[in-house]
Amino acid sequence: MSFLRFILITLKLAHGRTIGAFVASVNTLVVSTLALSTLTFSALAISTLAIIPSSFAADTAGTVLITGANRGIGLALAKQFHQSGYDVIATARKPAKAVDLKALGVRIEQLDVTDSSSVNALAKRLDGKAVDILINNAGIFGHNTNTFSDLDIDQLDTVYNVNSLGPLRVTQALLPNLIKSKQKRVANISSMMGSMELNTWGCCIGYRGSKAALNSFNKTLSMEFGKQGLVFVVLHPGYVQTDINKGKGDITASESASGLFDVISKLDSEDNGKFYDFNGKSMPW
Ligand code: NDP
Repeated sequence: MSFLRFILITLKLAHGRTIGAFVASVNTLVVSTLALSTLTFSALAISTLAIIPSSFAADTAGTVLITGANRGIGLALAKQFHQSGYDVIATARKPAKAVDLKALGVRIEQLDVTDSSSVNALAKRLDGKAVDILINNAGIFGHNTNTFSDLDIDQLDTVYNVNSLGPLRVTQALLPNLIKSKQKRVANISSMMGSMELNTWGCCIGYRGSKAALNSFNKTLSMEFGKQGLVFVVLHPGYVQTDINKGKGDITASESASGLFDVISKLDSEDNGKFYDFNGKSMPW
């Protein structure tokens, strides 16, 4: 072996060891970094989970769909259910204009309860999704006059279409979603004005009739679907300061929604077919 060759082999070996040591150090560094990263990531994940609201970290309290949720009692209900950990599907006739609803950050869907194609389109978008609670809230006061003689009977179609047939349309279309759910509740926002016994001063013939019809529909559906575990109720929300009565009323929309929330979230099979007010008090038919 020439001297030169000896020098080259020695250099190579020395170099090899240096590279080996370098590779070993790099390996150690990579392994330690990975271990550290894993620990840091786990710690981060745990601390992140601790600060995420329970509605995201775990199952929500359920899914609630509220019609006419862009203002009044519907908006207050959307707020109340959202704050209480429910997944809220809030409907509005004109979602683009539902500014207050958008500010809540809930899911918004277009729905006009008088328009079958709008109702069916909603059902299609929700196909396969369980809806635990359906709140048929959308309603109008409709045509009214001081005397019966002045009443334009042809104008009463609209109030029946919104207040009585609207809830029927929505309930029929979303029946598969309700049956798929755990809670299976339908809360129809009616009114004490639909009660015969409480009609002690007349007036508002269309509105009264439309809510009385809703009460009757509710009872009939409670009979047919009670066997499948569905619970149907009609609820009087109180006399509430909203647009429907030009801001008159005894209570605010959020006071009404808070009471309605307590009633609706505690409903069980024994309540099927019943009529309550927003405090859970039984209402006379
Ligand atoms: P508001 O007038 O404030 O709100 C009515 C809601 O219904 C709005 O979101 C409105 O939408 C919606 N709506 C009307 N027509 C339709 C339709 N064709 N399709 C879908 N949505 C529609 O009234 P309230 O919040 O006071 O009323 C809510 C419910 O409570 C009604 O059923 C009402 O009869 C009932 N009620 C109210 C009482 C009260 O004192 N306020 C007392 C007893 C019962 P849009 O903005 O597009 O018009």
